[in-house]
Amino acid sequence: MNYVVQAEHMHVRYGHSVAVKDISISVKEGELLAIAGANGAGKSTLVNAIAGWSRATPRVSGTVTFKGDDVSKLRAEMRARRGIALVPESRGAFAEMTVHENLSMVDAKNDEGKNFEIEDIFGLFPRLKERRSQQAGTLSGGERQMLAIGRALRAAPSLLILDEPSVGLAPRLVVEVLQHVKELTQDGLAVLLVEQNVRAALEVADRLSLIEQGEITATGTADEMREDDRTISAYLGGL
Ligand code: ATP
Repeated sequence: MNYVVQAEHMHVRYGHSVAVKDISISVKEGELLAIAGANGAGKSTLVNAIAGWSRATPRVSGTVTFKGDDVSKLRAEMRARRGIALVPESRGAFAEMTVHENLSMVDAKNDEGKNFEIEDIFGLFPRLKERRSQQAGTLSGGERQMLAIGRALRAAPSLLILDEPSVGLAPRLVVEVLQHVKELTQDGLAVLLVEQNVRAALEVADRLSLIEQGEITATGTADEMREDDRTISAYLGGL
């Protein structure tokens, strides 16, 4: 099994409150796993723990195995160097810099993931090319999301984690951005997608896990989850 990442028994506490309870997930090469759940369910906490990001010193336990190596003890920067890229909900481009400058300042950090030149990013997102000289702070929400994904890809990741890329996007753009993300898996990139929009996630995901109050309550292939009564009643509006 070509697992890119296996996160096992992840448990995260903020003080006395447990945000993630003994969650295990894994993503294979070329696979897109979506994690869906309501506000506050623990989605960001889980993916931040996998990438080694800790916003306000949560207590994290569990094992993260990345390409066969235990990276649980490594800091976020070292995990990024090995090929774990996280695009946070806040997206993180430099507002005062142009699109091109934002893409230029990231260097490929490892030899194993696919290298993306700036032209490759422009090929993936032609809209960014048109706006290459525009300041990132003046981009639309969708364009900013594309830039954030482009910046993450410049680091040649093997695992791309996207935390709610559809927030603030018009429905048509959600589909567009997610389709671009899906295309990336064809080269073997593993993608972990946090998404509140379950319908959109099911369009592109190979598998989907639902998280409620810090626990995975259901998991299955996209087809299985479309048939799952709980998914349908809770997230797909009773279709
Ligand atoms: P959303 O979809 O709203 O972004 P989420 O599923 O990503 O939600 P998290 O952000 O992981 O949820 O939050 C999980 C729980 O942990 C929430 O109850 C939240 O209030 C709590 N939490 C998150 N960050 C902190 C923190 N720094 N300190 C204390 N509690 C926190």
